[in-house]
Amino acid sequence: MAGSAEATPRCSLTGNTKEEIAGDPLADEATDGNTAQPVSTSETDLRFMAEALKLADYAATQGEVPVGCVIVFEDRIIGRGYNLRESNQDPIAHAEILAISEAAKAMGSWRLEDCTLYVTLEPCPMCAGALVLSRIARCVYGCTDPKAGFVGTLADISQFPGLNHHYPVTGGVCEEACRSRLQDFFRAVRANKKLRRDGRVV
Ligand SMILES: [Zn+2]
Repeated sequence: MAGSAEATPRCSLTGNTKEEIAGDPLADEATDGNTAQPVSTSETDLRFMAEALKLADYAATQGEVPVGCVIVFEDRIIGRGYNLRESNQDPIAHAEILAISEAAKAMGSWRLEDCTLYVTLEPCPMCAGALVLSRIARCVYGCTDPKAGFVGTLADISQFPGLNHHYPVTGGVCEEACRSRLQDFFRAVRANKKLRRDGRVV
């Protein structure tokens, strides 16, 4: 198992500075429950996570928490999604849900049995459950979510006993790039709030 730090792949889309930020829901994760998971060095994983990161970046330009997702079938992207919760005022408009719907349309089937999902942030309970329902073949994510991660951090739906589908999970792909985008986003949100509070922006 490639679990050592040396085996961590370099991501070409590494973001900006990494700081621990008070109040950032992703800043206090230092270590997490997923350290036992293998970190993939697959070029394929890096390539598709880079595509998911592009969608996360776009989400940020729309004022959305930057989370992006792609679904891949036979080395081809068949579903894309990015967080649209604010734009749509829809609590379930997560990147994964939108990508799953698009992929199912592309496949002409709700079964995504031979597909891999790449998402920049560890899936929440809803999305981890949707991956069970879609019969996904595999899930790859970037950084862990200590407040909502449900494929290993708070719990693990992907291997939950009794469910009729399980799927392998690989975490930590382009981890720093994925995390830094979230940290940058929340830093900007806080800075903006402070400016408003100080009366420097009307
Ligand atoms: Zn979700």
